[in-house]
Amino acid sequence: MKPYKTNNQKPAFGNSSLQVLVAEDDSVTSRAIASSLKEWGYDPVLARNGNEAWQKIQTENIHLAIIDWMMPGMNGVELCQKIREKTSDEEAHYTYIILLTGRDEQRDIIQGFLAGADDYVTKPFDFEELKVRLLKAVRIIEREEARLRLASIDFLTKLWNRKKIMQFCLEEVERGRRDNHPTGLIMIDIDKFKKINDTWGHLVGDEVLIETAQRITKSVREYDKIGRYGGDEFLVIIPNCPPDILPLIARRIRLAIAERPIGTKKKLLKVTISCGGTSSLSFPHYSAINLVQVADEALLHAKRKGGNREVIVEGKEKETKDK
Ligand code: GH3
Ligand code: MG
Repeated sequence: MKPYKTNNQKPAFGNSSLQVLVAEDDSVTSRAIASSLKEWGYDPVLARNGNEAWQKIQTENIHLAIIDWMMPGMNGVELCQKIREKTSDEEAHYTYIILLTGRDEQRDIIQGFLAGADDYVTKPFDFEELKVRLLKAVRIIEREEARLRLASIDFLTKLWNRKKIMQFCLEEVERGRRDNHPTGLIMIDIDKFKKINDTWGHLVGDEVLIETAQRITKSVREYDKIGRYGGDEFLVIIPNCPPDILPLIARRIRLAIAERPIGTKKKLLKVTISCGGTSSLSFPHYSAINLVQVADEALLHAKRKGGNREVIVEGKEKETKDK
């Protein structure tokens, strides 16, 4: 059984409590809900009207909202509709909505569901009932989050897939620009990988891809982002990376593969990779896409020069290779 199903434990949602938006203009009801939510292990976020709730939805990490039907300004039903418009994208985080209402006529309930509510509780409500309805909400939110995670992961290597790593790349370059932090990019490609496939078969090729992914992961920090960009190509995004450190990281990654053969079911294989990198500091006006192109061209140079090396473009090109 999941921990959130027992009485005294926190809802299981990552490492922190699940934020629950309470949009309710009546302060007595709002405080009572907030205090119960805290007792049940949630993190309440309070809004006194529909407009304030809409603000919070946009700025906080809200997956679950308890919304009063009758509120000044934007009412609960309008707020539901607005939330659904915002989260209609397949990749958006789902916001589970419980409508809180004094109305229990069937047509009102139908109107609430049509507006996008997932559930409703009629006032005066029973706190035990609300608690159980929240457990149902958490189950659905966790499933939805798991689905989103799966849609972002490369099935073979368990790294981020191309779409997701590009999304991180755009976000990090943008954030870095705002905070004045350089972002480093390293494009990696396995040398002569096709030959491994042709000689030892695709399953062995898969083993090499998996082990390469693991070694790259161990060579960088936990908050750096690594994705499988294509067949035997990987992209590493390094937030807050001083340009002089970038070649050291690329070299560390390359050596993590070259220094120790990869054990596969058929044979111990000597594998090498090539790396192409650049930093947003070297090209301050470039978009994330342009920076990926620069890293990709640097990788091509590394390949043309024989592979098993890193080429870092910092306005001018730098190359290193062992021996
Ligand atoms: P280079 O040294 O220039 O990088 O040459 P290469 O042989 O590594 O590069 P190429 O792009 O010709 O080959 C990449 C190969 O990766 C071709 C493709 O069949 C193989 N590949 C792509 N995805 C997978 C996969 O999921 N598993 C396996 N085993 N092979 C894959
Ligand atoms: Mg290759």
